[in-house]
Amino acid sequence: VGDSADYDSEVESVCPFCGVGCQVSLKVKDGAIRYVEGINGPANEGRLCVKGRFGFDYIHHPHRLTKPLIRRADAPPKGLNVDPANPFTHFREASWEEALDAAAGGLARLKAAHGGRSVAGFGSAKCTNEEAYLFQKLIRQGFGHNNVDHCTRLCHASSVAALLENVGSGAVTATFNEIEHADVAIAIGCNPVENHPVAATYFKQFAKRGGKLIVMDPRGVGLRRHACHMLQFRPGADVAMLNAIMHVIVEEGLYDQQYIEAFTENWEAEKAHLANFAPEKMAEVCGIEAEVLRDVARTFATAKAGMIFWGMGVSQHIHGTDNSRCLISLALMCGHVGRPGTGLHPLRGQNNVQGASDAGLIPMFLPDYQTVTDDGVRSAFTEIWQSGDFSSEKGLTVTEIMDDIHAGNTRGMYILGENPAMSDPDVEHARDALAKLEHLVVQDIFLTETANYADVILPASAFAEKTGTVTNTNRQVQMGRPAVAPPGEAREDWWIEVELAKRLGLPWAYTHPREIFAEMKLTMRSLANITWERLEAQNAVTYPSLSPEDPGQAIVFGDGFPRPEGRARFTPAAVIAPDEAPDAEYPMILTTGRQLEHWHTGSMTRRSKVLDAVEPEANCSLHPKTLRRMGLAPGAMVRLTTRRGSVEVMARADRAVAEDMVFLPFAYVEAAANILTNPALDPFGKIPEFKFAAVRVEPAGQG
Ligand code: SF4
Repeated sequence: VGDSADYDSEVESVCPFCGVGCQVSLKVKDGAIRYVEGINGPANEGRLCVKGRFGFDYIHHPHRLTKPLIRRADAPPKGLNVDPANPFTHFREASWEEALDAAAGGLARLKAAHGGRSVAGFGSAKCTNEEAYLFQKLIRQGFGHNNVDHCTRLCHASSVAALLENVGSGAVTATFNEIEHADVAIAIGCNPVENHPVAATYFKQFAKRGGKLIVMDPRGVGLRRHACHMLQFRPGADVAMLNAIMHVIVEEGLYDQQYIEAFTENWEAEKAHLANFAPEKMAEVCGIEAEVLRDVARTFATAKAGMIFWGMGVSQHIHGTDNSRCLISLALMCGHVGRPGTGLHPLRGQNNVQGASDAGLIPMFLPDYQTVTDDGVRSAFTEIWQSGDFSSEKGLTVTEIMDDIHAGNTRGMYILGENPAMSDPDVEHARDALAKLEHLVVQDIFLTETANYADVILPASAFAEKTGTVTNTNRQVQMGRPAVAPPGEAREDWWIEVELAKRLGLPWAYTHPREIFAEMKLTMRSLANITWERLEAQNAVTYPSLSPEDPGQAIVFGDGFPRPEGRARFTPAAVIAPDEAPDAEYPMILTTGRQLEHWHTGSMTRRSKVLDAVEPEANCSLHPKTLRRMGLAPGAMVRLTTRRGSVEVMARADRAVAEDMVFLPFAYVEAAANILTNPALDPFGKIPEFKFAAVRVEPAGQG
């Protein structure tokens, strides 16, 4: 931290990492960001975590892409094995004109030869709302179908599916800051101390002032130190545990009958279903004593105001949608929605995954979750877009598109800011698919693992080099501003999208993101009363905003839900076992996730000096007893093997991990967690089971 003598200018923007959406002041000197301070945004009130404060320097890293690149005609077959000393060896520099013509020309040729259906797109939750909106429009308008998706499929797609089904809206019902007014809060399947660190500070303050924090997770996550109850349940037993808790609420008559009658439907079916889940029967299944389950049920149901927070420990299962259905039912039966200190809050992962989903970067929905199967909805969009119709068929999701490449249907892709060569489950399957593509256009700021497979690479902009809005986990639409110029010839993503669209024959004439935002407002009622000018002046407005003066509604659904008759729904959830049971060959359970210092596939944080210095090496966590059983000391190398592959990685001792479990972060290409993960999907949200795979752990060098 310095003083005003240390910088020439300061620019207010939004942290590019997690969904908390902390507002930052970027201090710039001589064209480079020197340091970052938190400012008084609605989500962070001046606070920042280590990533927000120290993780900005990746944008000045010498690995940044500064010129468009085209794959050399004499390059070997596509693959990941580039020479780390000469990463660009298979590409040559090109002018923007040549690269854009090559990028668009290749996609247009596929469309002409095989139909629009042969080209799919992955957009990015790291781009702005305007860029996400343009991306889905480009695929739908340019290729006539809905095979467009982004990383929401890999994080909260199942939560959104359950929320849309039962509450009528895919966003949170209350901001996380509302915990200030709660008496009790459940945090399940999330690790905010590492993944949403600034939100975690509000949770800790809540506990410190006497709020009852109930933490539920198969790992002993950091919040447990502040919890009145820590339920370290068996991996995959969420539904059994939650149904048992709800069973107690029914059995002991602790539910809110008045609320249920006024605002819900299907209660009798839920009640009947829960009769089978007595805690005494479920204790063995979920590994939590019946009396603890009863105590938690009473604590949550008898509180005046309760909130539920959840993360990917809930969503990344083949029963992820069922997990969220249970959490929704639990909140509804206690009347813990729509009042101060109550609500349902899936903690969103990426900085703009909420906004990208709202903007329609998903295969089933157009902006504002308007379904593509509705003829009236589609014709309203084609009228605004001034172009012909596009398919009424729901599109393919992230992992389904990879399968579709293997099936020979998808032949070309446009990938903006996503890294499926690291982030997809069973990642060798995804890498093989990328290698098969006849034409791949990648737009990014670094030569990511995915860019290794590209035919054309378009150098894009980092958050601090562009103008645009982003939407955080709290539904707060915030203004991002450029502090420095993109390096070399790199350009803002929306500009690149427009240039590609023009070359694909689309009638696009945007000259500034504010024009794109204005068009979004024509299609998205959620943006009513939120204008570009307001965001420029105020930095953030929460949706829904009821008037031009209203800062937005922190809590929604106090007087009913956006569903038929204004009623939320109880959807009973049966217990479904994880897709892979441990057995003699693979006796342990693998779970994956993030660490405090590293972000997703590591392309940004591993290029940040401070963050990489703290966590420089691929590692996994094992219980000390597990290590001892193998005759290993902390720091030893172990080999992890699942039915899909093996990686070797340094082992840490961590008592927070159960003895039959191993935790592996997915940021490290040298020990890519997704070589191991199971691609089995939740049938509703189509999210893979990243949180559970049967694994064998042994000293490295064996097996
Ligand atoms: Fe950035 Fe999230 Fe940390 Fe805030 S909590 S500084 S948004 S990474």
